[in-house]
Amino acid sequence: MKLSLVVPCYNEQDNVELFYNVAVSAFSDGGFDYELIFVNDGSKDATMQRLRDLYNKAESNIKVIGFSRNFGKESAMYAGLKESVGDYVCIIDADLQQRPELVLDMLKILEENPDCDSVACYQEDRRESEVLAAFKNCFYKIINKLSEIEFVSGASDFRLLRRAVVDAVLSMSEYHRFSKGIFSWVGFNTYYMPYVVEDRANGTTNWSFWKLFKYAIDGILAFTTIPLRLATFIGLFSSAASIIYMIVVIIQKLAFSIDVPGYATIVVLILLLGGLQLFCIGVLGEYLSKTYVESKRRPIYIAKEILDYKTRDKD
Ligand code: UDP
Ligand code: MG
Repeated sequence: MKLSLVVPCYNEQDNVELFYNVAVSAFSDGGFDYELIFVNDGSKDATMQRLRDLYNKAESNIKVIGFSRNFGKESAMYAGLKESVGDYVCIIDADLQQRPELVLDMLKILEENPDCDSVACYQEDRRESEVLAAFKNCFYKIINKLSEIEFVSGASDFRLLRRAVVDAVLSMSEYHRFSKGIFSWVGFNTYYMPYVVEDRANGTTNWSFWKLFKYAIDGILAFTTIPLRLATFIGLFSSAASIIYMIVVIIQKLAFSIDVPGYATIVVLILLLGGLQLFCIGVLGEYLSKTYVESKRRPIYIAKEILDYKTRDKD
């Protein structure tokens, strides 16, 4: 049995060696073979140099993929999965917020349950502000209503996958990757394991509120097309409302000779309908822009440097 650990790293110069040491001490007595795949996602600090040093001095099976620029964690995860050869593959952060020892518990679950294909860790108690928690809950409510697949609240990218699941994820070669959706879309049986997120070992998180918001919108665009029908629904509703109002106005005029005051109503309606029209065009534009980029079929990442233990050991 072989385990592959995929570790995306962006500006993690103070964490990679720490992570390496913790991972090696967790797995060295495990009685199984393992490889560590570090993906340097175009870090602006000395992460690549630290990884090169680790690769040169380490005895363990270590592979380093250096991107030509920052492509984002989704691309880093894809590259790591693509380079992995293990029967089981685990995606784990480099900042030690997700303890490598937990991978042993996840492995146990998969080995004891042949029907189970992957283990996903989720945070039971989120340690974050109430505003952020409310925003995330709202996102899960909306996306679960709109999309056919299920998104589990709090489920992270910290997952252990069987090879079959890895191959299924790799077969989805879309450019705009939203892994939470991809893991659900491929199906298979997932066991959800609660875990406690540690504090970051060093450095700061790469997520700001704005980035999270954009990520949430990308997720909705990637996994449901229902917003595209918004224009149809709004159009039908406003047509129906205007027909009813027209009948009311005619009756008022003919039966009761009431002069209908118009100015305020017209201004409000023009602004309302103009706004709704622009909003619907905007939604259309969002999907169109994704389709445009996707149609170019650009690679998900570009590797500038690959250090592979298999070739190192031959030298
Ligand atoms: N990461 C990455 N590329 C990016 C941003 C982040 O590979 O563009 C990596 C980062 O090095 C870390 C993991 O993704 O190993 C999670 O990032 P972070 O700790 O910033 O996110 P959080 O834990 O706050 O969700
Ligand atoms: Mg983190």
